[in-house]
Amino acid sequence: MHICHYLVFRCMDFRLKPSVLSSLLKDIGVEEGDYDLVSCAGSAKDMLGSEAERDFLLKQITLSQKLHQIKNIVVLYHDNCGAYGIVDPIEETTTQQADLAKIKAIIAEQFPELIFTAYIVKGVSKGELSLEKIF
Ligand SMILES: [Zn+2]
Repeated sequence: MHICHYLVFRCMDFRLKPSVLSSLLKDIGVEEGDYDLVSCAGSAKDMLGSEAERDFLLKQITLSQKLHQIKNIVVLYHDNCGAYGIVDPIEETTTQQADLAKIKAIIAEQFPELIFTAYIVKGVSKGELSLEKIF
């Protein structure tokens, strides 16, 4: 049996350097080697897209749970995200926070047993990444 505790959603953006992201995750208790990773444009944004897009992401959760018994979902959004394409940083944050609340509700309905947390990775355009907790 192969077990890990977390499933992490991240954006595919290359500026989210794996080594840096790994270190930031470690800071919030998500150790390297203890999470499944889904990397898509806009992270979990497509959870609010078409039915097919949502189903694809939900399938990743189902499989992670079935194969590795994950107990937690961590959704990482980031600023300056091309999948959002919002120039104004405040508007981007507000929009992303609202979307994360909707995603949280969808996951809570489909997977009530999983603990949901969400962060926005800040400082991407400067290359100085830090995490801001949303949920
Ligand atoms: Zn992005």
